[in-house]
Amino acid sequence: MRKTEQKAAPRPRAARDLGTDTEVLPERLFTGLPIVSGIAVGPAYLFEDQSPVLTSVAIEADAVDGELDRFDGAIKKSRRQLTKLRSQLAMLPAEGAAELEPLLDAYMQMIGPSRLLRGVRKRIESLSAAETAVHDEVEDLAATILAMPDRDRAGLKRRAEEIREIGRRLIRNLTETPFQSFAKLAQGTILVIDTLRPADAALLSPARLAGVVTEEGGTDGHTAVMLRALGIPSILGAEGVTDVIRSGALLVLDGGAGTVTLNPGPATMAAAKRSSANFARERQKLAQLRRLAAETTDGQAVELLANLEVPLELPLIAQAGVEGIGLFRSEFMFMNRAELPDEDEQTEVYGQAVEAMEGDPVTIRVLDWGGEKEIEALQNSGFTTEISGINPALGLRGIRMLLRNPELLETQLAAILRAGARGPVNILLPMVTSIDEVRATRDILHKVVRRLKRRGEELPARMPPLGIMIETPAAALSADALALEADFFAIGTNDLTMYAMAADRGDIEVAKLYDPLHPGLLRLVQFTVEASLRLRKPVSVCGEMAANPKLTPLLLGLGLRALSMNASAVPKVKLVVRSVSIADCARLARRVMEQTEPAEIRALVEEFAEKSL
Ligand code: PEP
Ligand code: MG
Repeated sequence: MRKTEQKAAPRPRAARDLGTDTEVLPERLFTGLPIVSGIAVGPAYLFEDQSPVLTSVAIEADAVDGELDRFDGAIKKSRRQLTKLRSQLAMLPAEGAAELEPLLDAYMQMIGPSRLLRGVRKRIESLSAAETAVHDEVEDLAATILAMPDRDRAGLKRRAEEIREIGRRLIRNLTETPFQSFAKLAQGTILVIDTLRPADAALLSPARLAGVVTEEGGTDGHTAVMLRALGIPSILGAEGVTDVIRSGALLVLDGGAGTVTLNPGPATMAAAKRSSANFARERQKLAQLRRLAAETTDGQAVELLANLEVPLELPLIAQAGVEGIGLFRSEFMFMNRAELPDEDEQTEVYGQAVEAMEGDPVTIRVLDWGGEKEIEALQNSGFTTEISGINPALGLRGIRMLLRNPELLETQLAAILRAGARGPVNILLPMVTSIDEVRATRDILHKVVRRLKRRGEELPARMPPLGIMIETPAAALSADALALEADFFAIGTNDLTMYAMAADRGDIEVAKLYDPLHPGLLRLVQFTVEASLRLRKPVSVCGEMAANPKLTPLLLGLGLRALSMNASAVPKVKLVVRSVSIADCARLARRVMEQTEPAEIRALVEEFAEKSL
């Protein structure tokens, strides 16, 4: 943060950059829409659009073929760029990826066999240069859309803007104007930009950028969702910022208030300092908790672990005060792409997570495909992934699909083993129902180890433990037998509830039935935990139940000592762990297990939370 004594020499940087002789530049406040809370103080970086200025250009008849070729080249290049962007979706927080994906699909469609492309070709044939043809066709289409008698004006505007966006991309590629990258922005910069497009927002680095302020944009647009997902303090729709603010000028941005102050005076700087000190205090509170042990009042240690859905969560997980990753969902690596990730790519992704955890174990679950999850690359690959139309949730899902396609499993196991040379890993199998599946996988694992040894690959010093998800009633009720074959259990209460209650986890019609506090589900959990304790096999819960602090006492009371959850849930669960005794939790669990109704169980859980938390 800069000093507050703005009046004293030396002159503020902003004054020098503007090349004026003024000692102190007047403070100026801009107001926009608050999008992401947080205070940022730093130099502005004014992003100036490098788009070429187009004049209408006509061509001779003998140039038509050449222009059509240039246009085809620009389409191909745009397709490659969009495919690459699509492959980067997995690196974004889930919310951001969900926002961007349909948009990229829409762009892709527009540069497929579309009215836009047909229109451009016609214009080129009528002797327009390719750039002119794109520009004119796009503007025509946008005007037609905006003139539609639809009451959803915002929706029409969005569609027109999408068409203009793809037009800009085509023209950039035609004129070979390089895309200006945000990657080069100096650390701590506040980006000032006219319009931030969602696909560009996806390329911003929250680690480098202190804040974002734009002239255009609304609270619910794609860009706002992306910025929220990335957590960069941001304001959109701040009128006038790009006219007045210049690169290097000092700014104070308050994302929560929706304000940005240019040339902040001493009072503004002092207020910004106070606000960011408050922020820092909050963070510190969490940091303190991070360092404290997850231990009950009667001294029982509880292992708190993180679930990882996309690699972008890694920094958050590393700071969350967890003892490892209890569930690395590897599905993200296979989604939104045309081809499957090979062994090297997978090794790198797992290896990065292993290194980020600095010696804490990473439990990597092999691909859980099937049910509601669809993976395009697998369907294109020739592997047997057919979901029978009968009932996908009860079909070829998880380990069943992998054992049907051993090559897929072998590649993934090889990558996990190689990453295991960089730090401790565990291997986790999804959707197990029988001992045979565990045995078959272990055989494949041994075969892969032998193959890697022959190839001279570096392997983990000790074979990674091979564990299983307990997420089918059959697995839970044969946990005693499965514990003889599996090295550890991770109870997936999301699916276990679905299969126990015969209620789809995504079906609103049966949402009331989907209740993890149903005695049937709790008995499955209890049976599993007791079997694993008897056979001294580690057991954890990694379904959403583990992230609900109200349920922590019950899970501890049932004998669980390891819980894996979304990193953001860790502090609250840790607070609960630190304020209860195992003796009280066990008493609560005993009373809960005597009940017959979910409502009675819920009342007991709530009562315990009120009294002791
Ligand atoms: C579960 O089923 O509880 C689980 C953790 O797996 P997923 O949510 O990935 O299916
Ligand atoms: Mg599951």
